[in-house]
Amino acid sequence: MKSQLKSVRVGILGAGQLALMLAEAVPSLALKLPQARNVEVVCAGSSGDCAERVATLVETDLTDIASVHRFAEQVDLVTVESENIDADVLAGLNLFPNVRAVGIAQDRLLEKRFFHECGIGTAPYAAVDSVADLEAALAELRTPAILKTRRMGYDGKGQVRLAHAREAAAAWVEVGEVPCILEGTVHFTSEVSLVAARSASGEIVFYPLTENHHRAGILRTSIAPCDCEALQPIAEGDMRELLRRLEYVGVLAVEFFVVEGGLLANEMAPRVHNSGHWTIEGSATSQFENHLRALLDLPLGSTVSEDTVMLNCIGIMPDVEETAKFPDIARHDYGKEARPGRKVGHLTFPARARSAIAYWQQRLGDE
Ligand code: AMP
Repeated sequence: MKSQLKSVRVGILGAGQLALMLAEAVPSLALKLPQARNVEVVCAGSSGDCAERVATLVETDLTDIASVHRFAEQVDLVTVESENIDADVLAGLNLFPNVRAVGIAQDRLLEKRFFHECGIGTAPYAAVDSVADLEAALAELRTPAILKTRRMGYDGKGQVRLAHAREAAAAWVEVGEVPCILEGTVHFTSEVSLVAARSASGEIVFYPLTENHHRAGILRTSIAPCDCEALQPIAEGDMRELLRRLEYVGVLAVEFFVVEGGLLANEMAPRVHNSGHWTIEGSATSQFENHLRALLDLPLGSTVSEDTVMLNCIGIMPDVEETAKFPDIARHDYGKEARPGRKVGHLTFPARARSAIAYWQQRLGDE
C-alpha cells in the first residue's frame, strides 16, 4: 500500500451545489485510493449554504481579501466553485486552478483573446466600453448580435440581444454601462462541452463531449456522449493547449458551438461544470472525484462512460415520491430554497431509463 497522504484539508471558495458534490465525492475517493483516506473538504460561505449538509462550513465573505485569507490559513489548498471571485481576492492563495486561469475565465474579453492565442476560434467579437464603441462594433459585426458584460455573467445574466443597430443606446443602459464585449451571432448546429482534468503531475483525462440544451440562457439538458464523435479529438486538442498554457490543475470545462467546419469556443469554466454532473452515475470516475484527485496529485480516475442524460431542475425540485416511481433515475436535491430560475437539483438518466426522459423533460419544463 502506498503511504497515506497526511490529513489534507481541501478548501473550497463557495458552498453551493458544486461544493456539495465535491464533498460528496470524498468517500468514494477514499474507498478507491486508501492514500486519500484523510482528505477533508471545508467550504467558505454563509450559514445555510447547501454544502453545509456534508462539509465543514467556515463563514467567509468571498468579496473580502482578509476574510478569504483567514479561511485559506485553515486549509492546505484552495479551489473555487465559481470563477466570479475577484482575482485580487485570490492573489497569494495556494490556489488550484491558479489565479491566472480563474482571472482569464472571469473576464469574457481576456477569455476570447486567450482562446485566439491558443489558436482556438470564437464568435466574432469586439470590446465595448461606451455607447460609441457599441455603435462602431455593431457597424462591423452587424445584427443580430449579443452584448455581454465582461464580468459576472452566468446563466444568461448580463446579456442583451440586439436585433437592430438603433437599439444600441438602450442595450448599453440595460447592461449597466459596464465594460462589455459585443459578439456576432453564431449559427450553430448544436452546443457541446468538454470536461477534462489535469493533475499537478501533468496527467490529463477527458470526458466524452456532451451535447447541451439551454433555455433562457440556463442549461436544461445534457446528453452524453454527443452525436458528434468526430469532434472529440478536435476538442481534446483545443483543451490540451488551454491546459498546457495555463499550467492548469483541476477540472476545466469548455463550452463550444458546433458549426460547419468544426468548433468555436464560447466560454470556459475553471471548475467542475453543470454539463458534467452526469459523470456521477455515468462515468467510472465523476468530474468531482477527478477534480479532487487532480488537486491532490493522485492518479486520475478512468473516464470510461456510458450513455447518460441529465436534466436540470430549475425553480422547483420534484418530490421524492414522484421520482421514486422511476427507480432507474438518480435524484440530486441540492436542498436549496425553491426560486424561479434557480438550479435546485438535477436528475440523471442511465440508458435503461431512456424511456422516462420525454416525460421528465415536459414535467420539469412546466415548472
Ligand atoms: P453564455 O453565457 O455566453 O454561455 O451564453 C448563454 C447561451 O446563449 C449560450 O449557451 C448560447 O445558447 C447563446 N449564445 C451565447 N453567445 C452566442 C453567440 N455569439 N451566438 C449565438 N448564440 C449565443
